Amino acid sequence: MTSIGIAGAGIGGLSAATGLAQAGHAVTVFDQFETALPVGSGLVVQPVGLSVLDELGAGDAARALGQAIVRMAGHEAATGRQVLDVTYDPAGQGRVGLAMHRAALHGVLLRAAEAAGVTFELGARVTGRDGQCFRIGNRMTGAFDLLVDAAGAGSPLSPLRARPLPYGAIWGTVDWPEETDLPGDELRQCYRRAAHMIGVLPIGRQVAGGPRQAAVFWSMPRDHHAAWCAMPMERWRDQATALWPAVAPFLARVEHHGAMTMARYSHGTLGRPHGDGIVHIGDAWHRASPQLGQGANMALLDAAALVRAVAAGPLSEAGHRMHNARRLHVRAYQAVSAAFTPMYQSDSRLLPVLRDRVLFPVSQIWPGTRILPPLVRGSVLPPILAGLGSP
Ligand SMILES: Cc1cc2nc3c(=O)[nH]c(=O)nc-3n(C[C@H](O)[C@H](O)[C@H](O)COP(=O)(O)OP(=O)(O)OC[C@H]3O[C@@H](n4cnc5c(N)ncnc54)[C@H](O)[C@@H]3O)c2cc1C
Repeated sequence: MTSIGIAGAGIGGLSAATGLAQAGHAVTVFDQFETALPVGSGLVVQPVGLSVLDELGAGDAARALGQAIVRMAGHEAATGRQVLDVTYDPAGQGRVGLAMHRAALHGVLLRAAEAAGVTFELGARVTGRDGQCFRIGNRMTGAFDLLVDAAGAGSPLSPLRARPLPYGAIWGTVDWPEETDLPGDELRQCYRRAAHMIGVLPIGRQVAGGPRQAAVFWSMPRDHHAAWCAMPMERWRDQATALWPAVAPFLARVEHHGAMTMARYSHGTLGRPHGDGIVHIGDAWHRASPQLGQGANMALLDAAALVRAVAAGPLSEAGHRMHNARRLHVRAYQAVSAAFTPMYQSDSRLLPVLRDRVLFPVSQIWPGTRILPPLVRGSVLPPILAGLGSP
């Protein structure tokens, strides 16, 4: 039995822990939180991520809470013109995105990890490593055969220095308003150039029997949050509703500034996500804006690749094998995210014109119609290469 220590009980850490424990390894997960409670609002688990949840036996529990998303659509506020329209599965094979509240996904993964026999140490903030031990404040954990860094975007173990992106967004969760005409199974967005973006994402329920909810988000430059907090809520609601009247019933349910959480984004990829006895997965390996909705999927796929890599041969080469299996997919999605994000979130006047006048029309004709749905589903390239190649 191999002993594996994982820093971070987030999406990647819990999935890796579950898969590795199911394979018979002794897994201990350390997280800084006393009660594992993720902050933030909604996210979309794409079909490739859903298949990982299915492998872990957690797919049905996720589907029971989440909301199937069949289409992503966006329009320009000034003209009303459609500038984004992607149907998940034009061929009708039942492939959908699953939108979930982060807490709901976290709960599903936590229960799967507990059922697999994973040991947890909560309230344990990892500050570094010493050999095969994690450092937690002044103490050391026991030694593990393999360390996994799944501590997310702020990982103290990852050497990645990501580039801060100029725009972030505020995110909030509201109950789904009865008076809305917006469809309950589509991600809808409205843009004014690339400087403003409002979105509504139906995310299902946080708990069984709870109310149906939506994530709402409003894009803003990363240093504008203080100015937004100083602005009366009514003025913000008026500004957003002037751009997109349909968002009014959602914003009416945002009661105070504290109900919207600021998320700042960064972009970067570690060239080598493994070192002596340690593997970095998820945001500790690669960070991007959530524009393509792939971060949670990437963490799930990294976890699945790591489980296979550990099973495939000597533990000392597991990091290499995971990297070989995932590097192509990670590189491709990081490149597409870097190219697309400024079209939706930047001060540029040219890029949104390119988005609306060139990219959107091209996306509606062949080969755009063939490329965009698998791009969104996370499967434009094989997400985990078979074979796992030796180093
Ligand atoms: C606002 C927002 C919206 C998003 N929307 C989407 C989307 O629609 N689709 C999508 O696929 N992705 C989305 N993402 C990205 C996605 O949430 C992340 O990419 C994903 O959560 C990364 O998983 P992870 O396991 O690497 O890190 P996380 O899920 O962030 O987990 C990291 C864990 O490590 C713990 N931790 C951190 N530091 C320490 C420490 N020092 N010691 C111990 N524990 C520590 C944290 O408490 C946390 O539990 C979004 C991100 C944001 C911010």
